[in-house]
Amino acid sequence: MDMKDTILKEARELEEDMREMRRELHRHPEVGFDLSFTKEFVRKKLEEFGYEPVSMGKAGLVALCGGKKPGRTILLRADMDALPIREEADVDFKSETDGRMHGCGHDMHTAILLGAAKILKKHENEINGTVKLEFQPAEEIFEGSPDMLASGLLEDPHVDAALMIHVTAGMPLRSGTIMVADGGISTASCEQYRITVRGKGGHGSVPHETIDPITAAAHIHLALQEINAREIDGHDYGVFTTGRFEGGQASNVIPDKAEMWGTIRTIDPENKVGELIKKRMTEIAEGVGAAMRCEVETEFFDFCPCMLIDAELSGAVMCVMKELLGGDAINLSAVSGGKPGGGSEDFAFVSHEVPTVSMFLVAGSSNDGYIYGQHHPKVRFDDSVLHIGTAAHAYAALRLLERSENK
Ligand SMILES: [Zn+2]
Ligand SMILES: [Zn+2]
Repeated sequence: MDMKDTILKEARELEEDMREMRRELHRHPEVGFDLSFTKEFVRKKLEEFGYEPVSMGKAGLVALCGGKKPGRTILLRADMDALPIREEADVDFKSETDGRMHGCGHDMHTAILLGAAKILKKHENEINGTVKLEFQPAEEIFEGSPDMLASGLLEDPHVDAALMIHVTAGMPLRSGTIMVADGGISTASCEQYRITVRGKGGHGSVPHETIDPITAAAHIHLALQEINAREIDGHDYGVFTTGRFEGGQASNVIPDKAEMWGTIRTIDPENKVGELIKKRMTEIAEGVGAAMRCEVETEFFDFCPCMLIDAELSGAVMCVMKELLGGDAINLSAVSGGKPGGGSEDFAFVSHEVPTVSMFLVAGSSNDGYIYGQHHPKVRFDDSVLHIGTAAHAYAALRLLERSENK
């Protein structure tokens, strides 16, 4: 039996185990860095499979496989954190924690990488180099990846290439399809802002005795559109949206302050467009606020860069995915038309350090009733495709290391 058939067969044999692991994780969602149940779950499984996992950063785990034969090192990553939302999905393994839900499918990612870990361990003596398995926290707040990087993720041994898989649901694509991101920028950068406009509150009947922050915020909101309309080069992509606009609680009271919260997205690896938007946003908000006698504070936080996909690595991964899955492996551009996605992913921090590629596993087609996408409280994922993700991770690592050996 050749390697591809062996890996597919071994992954299929793990189907039931992986579904159980995934559903157990789904029942116990944890968010951010607070992953005590999840991390222990993963640690125990890895130890059971013969690994010696080590803690990394605030709540991550890393384990190594191979290293018996010389060669390069490939990083495979799963994120483990859930979302702070209440699950409304119709599943019989619902979240047991109110206000927490695995709504992005990271429970699937964790089970998939655990499956791959088990398979890779069996083939440890055949690995031409080393596979580094990364289980990271806090993806949803864009802090897990930088925390792992700062804790030495890419060293000892040095990582030469990095791979991740994300599941998707709610699109009219066949469940089990693997999409490989093409070389270039695959997801936009994202950064949050909060503009606080401070005035002086008072009774609604005497506005002249107050400084109304709501009126000032409304003027700021409109003035900011100037940046998109007149200041960004039409050839550059730079989008910002104020999605939360708050001020006041009663209809007859002028409040002390109003707040505007939003996100800035660009597809510029150096984020020059983002820096321009931030600079002008600050100047306009302060200037317009001052004209209306308000004090304005503009803050930026939770930055995540755009994801850079290495063209050579993407080509190599596409090639081995075709070997493994035939027509069920496609380029992401065949679906996206080559446009970068608007959503962000904190593995982008890794992609700025080492050649990186991301894959997407279709886990539920809208044609089969999986109509909700990630982050929706009703999203469901088809966990009959876990073994495909597992085979993809394990086979990609084995074949890429073999290929780099033969170079
Ligand atoms: Zn997410
Ligand atoms: Zn996610």
